[in-house]
Amino acid sequence: MKNFQIIRALSSRTAVTNISKEKEAMFIAGGTNLVDLMKKNVVAPDKLIDINGLDLKKIEFLKGKVSIGALAKNSQVAEDATIKEKHPLLSLALAAGASQQIRHMATVGGNMLQKTRCSYYYNTDMPCNKRTPKSGCGAIGGSNRMHAVFGASDSCIAVHPSDMCIALAALDAQVLVEGPKGKRQIKFTDFHRLPGNTPEKDNNLEAKELITAIEIPDHNFTKNIHYLKVRDRTSYAFALVSVAAALDLKNNVIKDVRLAMGGVAHKPWRLTEAEEFLKGKTVSEEIFRQAGDLAMKGARTYGGNDFKITLGANTITEALIIAASK
Ligand code: SF4
Repeated sequence: MKNFQIIRALSSRTAVTNISKEKEAMFIAGGTNLVDLMKKNVVAPDKLIDINGLDLKKIEFLKGKVSIGALAKNSQVAEDATIKEKHPLLSLALAAGASQQIRHMATVGGNMLQKTRCSYYYNTDMPCNKRTPKSGCGAIGGSNRMHAVFGASDSCIAVHPSDMCIALAALDAQVLVEGPKGKRQIKFTDFHRLPGNTPEKDNNLEAKELITAIEIPDHNFTKNIHYLKVRDRTSYAFALVSVAAALDLKNNVIKDVRLAMGGVAHKPWRLTEAEEFLKGKTVSEEIFRQAGDLAMKGARTYGGNDFKITLGANTITEALIIAASK
């Protein structure tokens, strides 16, 4: 691992000012992904701006929304009694991620910025356009069981690894950021990006911008919700496929619905066509099955991940059945 300096920031403004002066500097909070990347020489910053001392840890229930500081720990948010009551989909998705120890260290902002778990990305002996632009993609024609079926490109077929982010995409969250040009908000579904020709860019943050908070507007998805994660073992494993499903039901009729998938694309994948199909329909297994099949139309597979089309449709169907039964 390369030697590096740590600078402790005392406010979000000084954190942004400090990082703006440096060419090869990065923010560090929980470090649950970044330290691994540094140990493997996948990233090698000269300086780390330690933001753990910033006042960005609060969960505040405001008029019409909740604001969650970027430094709130994953376990703190998952176990907050009011989050469980008002945003149970977020709580369930957070609890499905990583391990209890990692959730105690990992922050909300860091969770959003974690890198793909494509094994080629972590192996500096292998080609990877995301790690080393224009070096090739080991996963195309290689081992791609975990990889994308939507929105991939000839440059990269990696998937976004977070569970939390799938729920936040479904709940129409906003991301608050601060950078050298000031503060701005980004729609959560626009925060992460597809790989295109620049897979080294995971999101639409501008250079030196810091995530300060996320906001979730109030909604009616407090009862009939489910986060279903299919993985190789029941703890500390990334999703083969996951589904965040939220239903607003009246007399068994679907007034409103949100659906998003993980493990299938370079960003949380919102299923808007399936949502529109379900609105106004009466709950039934057959309708949920049709929504699952509709959502997987247009999927493209790469050999090792062909199973994800059937698994995806079945997981959507099952998540909706469980959500409706609550
Ligand atoms: Fe790298 Fe993306 Fe290819 Fe994986 S899928 S090897 S992350 S370019």
